[in-house]
Amino acid sequence: MPLHQGSHGRPAPSEEHRRLALNPFFGEADPTAPMVAAPPTHVLPDGPLPPSTAYRLVHDELMLDGNSRLNLATFVTTWMEPQAGVLMAECRDKNMIDKDEYPRTAELERRCVAMLADLWNAPDPATTVGCSTTGSSEACMLAGMALKRRWAARNADRYPATARPNLVMGVNVQVCWDKFCTFWEVEPRLVPMEGERFHLDPRAAAELCDENTIGVIGILGSTFDGSYEPIAELCAALDDLQERTGLDIPVHVDGASGAMVAPFLDPDVVWDFRLPRVSSINTSGHKYGLVYPGVGWALWRSPAELPEELVFRVNYLGGDMPTFALNFSRPGAQVVAQYYTFLRLGREGYRAVQQTSRDIARRLAGAFEALEDFRLLTRGDELPVFAVTTAPEVTSYDVFDVSRRLRERGWLVPAYTFPANRQDLSVLRVVCRNGFSSDLAELLLDDLRRLLPELRSQAHPLHRDRGVQTAFHH
Ligand SMILES: *Cc1c(COP(=O)(O)O)cnc(C)c1O
Repeated sequence: MPLHQGSHGRPAPSEEHRRLALNPFFGEADPTAPMVAAPPTHVLPDGPLPPSTAYRLVHDELMLDGNSRLNLATFVTTWMEPQAGVLMAECRDKNMIDKDEYPRTAELERRCVAMLADLWNAPDPATTVGCSTTGSSEACMLAGMALKRRWAARNADRYPATARPNLVMGVNVQVCWDKFCTFWEVEPRLVPMEGERFHLDPRAAAELCDENTIGVIGILGSTFDGSYEPIAELCAALDDLQERTGLDIPVHVDGASGAMVAPFLDPDVVWDFRLPRVSSINTSGHKYGLVYPGVGWALWRSPAELPEELVFRVNYLGGDMPTFALNFSRPGAQVVAQYYTFLRLGREGYRAVQQTSRDIARRLAGAFEALEDFRLLTRGDELPVFAVTTAPEVTSYDVFDVSRRLRERGWLVPAYTFPANRQDLSVLRVVCRNGFSSDLAELLLDDLRRLLPELRSQAHPLHRDRGVQTAFHH
């Protein structure tokens, strides 16, 4: 749908329509309310409404949004404790940028950065620099900008005159990296998928690097199938490249989901600042960080990795405080909620929550497999996420049919086609998050089992949904 096309070209509603759009309770049946017609929805109404009526109108329209808890497409937190909700409501009027006015909120942000630096094994958590953002997308823009600036400084003799910067990554990167490359004029160099490898190959990535490569992105884990990219092997391949050619290419880890899963469930997977080549890491506080949207985090190994000219200063307790962000104003509530959750759960609490999500993902993946109509691509044993396709002998329906039919029951399970070189492959993806209990997983399976006989009796897959296939899997 085109951006900002308010009324979708529809004619303005008739007077009769606007009268009937009102619940009589709002007007005639309420002797104090003179309302006779609903307010217009695409121009600013002439006058005010009572708050109860305005609330009702907006609330009722929003009933048609899906139920977020049944949205198995999203990685974003859809359940928090009531206490977290209370804290967030208490802080919704605080602007994160007003460090001087809200010094304690600013302090909580700094503590979160310090905790993440420690969690991700920064060599010196006391000097690790980092910031909160609105999410991983903003964090990735900031990390990408730092990579580009550092490369530009190293190549000041060639840039901007002749050299064009490039960024190497798997074709499975999240759309924010396409945005970064478009917005900041960096050439994306994509490692394709190959056979049963659905993410970046370290050797192939190293081969794409040259003197204009600002960095390589490693993803923990991939949004396409929940798999961890081999970050340690990627660093080793780049070490090898440096030995052979002298090129010293930094790695940024996009840990939008995995940077809040691996430290608790996979302490032996080495992916973070323990690898000297890892220069920066981002995560989404609002994914497995377990906070409502939108909060993200970006951290750099040391101040040397973050060019000073990108950092701006705001007033803070009479002094100045460095900030690095695309936005100026931004809510403080999510940062407070992140600190609350760190305090509330601790390492053991996070481990328990993420382990439960992983256990549910693995069991559900196993149950899909047991139905025999499906073939698993991943099993939920890295991110608590799995991707599944139809078995080769299934010809009467496809994953798009399954997605559409599950939607009739309220479940949002996206179906989409993989990118190069596996465009032949279409999958369903299930993201298990805190709050998606094994009871809910059973109900999903019950619905799926009920649908399968009908799907199996179709003459052929109904391709109607192909047009929207990639719309909701990020
Ligand atoms: C979700 C995601 C992003 C974007 O993060 P937001 O917090 O939604 O802005 C970037 N990269 C990966 C790997 C993701 O999973």
